[in-house]
Amino acid sequence: MFEWFKILRNHHLYRGPNYEGWITFDLDDTVCDFVGETYAKLNAHFGTDLKVGDHNTYWVNDHFGLTGTEFHEVAHQVRLHDELTPIEGLAQAMLKVAQRFKIQFNSSRGALRNAHMTTTAWLTRHQFPCDDLVILKHGDLKWERFKPNTKLFVEDNANHALEAADSGKVEMVWLVDKPWNQHVDHPRIQRIKHDQLVSMLLQYFGDPDPLPFDPD
Ligand SMILES: [Mg+2]
Repeated sequence: MFEWFKILRNHHLYRGPNYEGWITFDLDDTVCDFVGETYAKLNAHFGTDLKVGDHNTYWVNDHFGLTGTEFHEVAHQVRLHDELTPIEGLAQAMLKVAQRFKIQFNSSRGALRNAHMTTTAWLTRHQFPCDDLVILKHGDLKWERFKPNTKLFVEDNANHALEAADSGKVEMVWLVDKPWNQHVDHPRIQRIKHDQLVSMLLQYFGDPDPLPFDPD
């Protein structure tokens, strides 16, 4: 066990000036199963039994008959965003990816109460590497906040994926396959299954020459 490495691997300086670029991740329904957990919590809160499989619009609040404002109020009450569970193995995979790339999280959570603070705490708690956190309002363009030399953008929202693919600001776009983005068909967007995200990240962007350390 190399304790010094455990310290350095989370430090920006570890990658030095020679990192290979940036990777940008959406948060909800990309690094976690946001809709799945939302259904579970709101069904419990309201005593309903709505099913995720019925959900084919992007706006989950519509399905529960809530306005956006009402949804955010309930989300705050049930600690929805604080208690989301990351996709299994994703944070560990990102730590490997972060040996070569800088990591941006880019989310439209701007309407949430204390969105930046809540999200920072969540990312830290789950040990995600994070070099930049962008919190936007609905309607803002995510790609406008991409860093120069962004290699990959991972997203589930159709509009954000399409806008990014046409922006010229990112080399690859992976669209997490969801019921609400089935209409997307674009030559520069690769549709991926959510349960393949970890293995694809490691395959395409993981450390090609792992250093001898115990990741736990
Ligand atoms: Mg999303």
